[in-house]
Amino acid sequence: MNAHNPLEVIATPDHGTDQSKDRRDDLDKVLIVEDSKFFRKLLQHAVEHRTGLAPVVASSLAEARQLLEGNEDKYLLSLLDLNLPDSSRCEIVDYVSAKNIPAIVFTGEFDEALREDVLAKNVIDYVVKANRSSLDQVVSQISRFRKNRDVTVLVVAGSQTENEYVTGLLTLHGFNVLSAHDGEDALDQVAANPGIALVITDYRLPKLDGLKLISRLRDTYSKNELAIIGLSGDGDSILSARFLKIGANDYLHKPFQPEEFYCRVNQNIEILETIRNLKHSATRDFLTGLYNRRLLMESGARMLAASKRQGEAICVALLDIDFFKSINDTYGHDAGDMMLKSVARTISKRFRSADIVARYGGEEFCVVMNVEKISVAQGIFNELRDEIREASVNFDGDTLSVTVSIGITIGLADNLEDLLSEADTNLYAAKESGRDRAVTTLFGS
Ligand code: GH3
Ligand code: MG
Ligand code: MG
Repeated sequence: MNAHNPLEVIATPDHGTDQSKDRRDDLDKVLIVEDSKFFRKLLQHAVEHRTGLAPVVASSLAEARQLLEGNEDKYLLSLLDLNLPDSSRCEIVDYVSAKNIPAIVFTGEFDEALREDVLAKNVIDYVVKANRSSLDQVVSQISRFRKNRDVTVLVVAGSQTENEYVTGLLTLHGFNVLSAHDGEDALDQVAANPGIALVITDYRLPKLDGLKLISRLRDTYSKNELAIIGLSGDGDSILSARFLKIGANDYLHKPFQPEEFYCRVNQNIEILETIRNLKHSATRDFLTGLYNRRLLMESGARMLAASKRQGEAICVALLDIDFFKSINDTYGHDAGDMMLKSVARTISKRFRSADIVARYGGEEFCVVMNVEKISVAQGIFNELRDEIREASVNFDGDTLSVTVSIGITIGLADNLEDLLSEADTNLYAAKESGRDRAVTTLFGS
């Protein structure tokens, strides 16, 4: 796993609540101003069912005013039709902009003058009402905008003016923006902020130029962990190739159109997200959200190697639910699944992030951690057994609970498999001697 994994959202069952996120989720209204009843219904339905946000509809500027006054802070963004019965072309955009609510313009008409007009205001984008895909565009714009709140971008511009311009563009699309005043400052900021997903850097910078900055960043972060877009206004046509060859994900030549800028930024962020999701599903068990066996074997082997270097033992435990088959047989597979998730939650709550907690197989779990003393391991796992026994699940009016048997071994082996094998022998002994108990040995004793 990587230290710099900005878009990683690990869905472990005990994931703590992020209070700032909760507060932001109050910001869940989307103002739809549209005089055509047909489009109003269409947009309302799309926002409600495809974004999970709360649509609030108005058919005129006057109605929009009434809805917004005093409630500005509840709106995430707005969808605006330009032709309203009670206003001139861009009046609604000006009104909503003045309230600091970002807007997506959804319009039947389109020409170059209008494009310039709306893009000069607080407008995220304009979508022309053409066909079904226009609605898809609106929906994906809204989803993207909402996700951008969790994406941090570092801007490294050669001048204050440029910094402000690029920062303004990014802020309009809802990104968290940081800025660095030179290449070395940029390196420091990336190191200090693991949340940075994208660096946008100029070529000409004080101290370290853009190419050197990228090269230094790539010593530590791969293209899949940190996206970098190079910017340059120089007439040097070879510069784009140099940026890409040294490790930039993309390149933009100045001056650029805001639309091209957004397309490239979004594309690069979306690639990072796709990779993040692939990595996540490759390392997680689908049902419980715990690590899967593959990740356990890889990370466990690394932990063992590190422990060997330190000369410290590690602890490997296998936990198996007792008589689990009878839960499935009596209450059905869904009840069994609920129970598996509940046990997974109880187990993962008990351990720290440095410990590896995985689903090993059907109703078996595995924990690998840095604990050297038998008494400490026994203390932890006996408490865990109590917690699992006490954590009941309600299913169709029935209260279900289970116990677990645990096999534990502590020591240093040639490989992880040998430790797992001894833990499994101990698990078998725990089952044989009556279940709901833990059997622990020092490895090889
Ligand atoms: P013991 O105390 O000896 O461990 O008995 P047991 O019934 O727990 O063990 P057994 O190996 O006989 O049965 C394990 C059961 O776990 C059988 C299998 O259908 C069930 N199982 C495995 N994976 C899942 C799953 O993902 N969901 C559900 N609902 N059941 C599962
Ligand atoms: Mg079992
Ligand atoms: Mg089993």
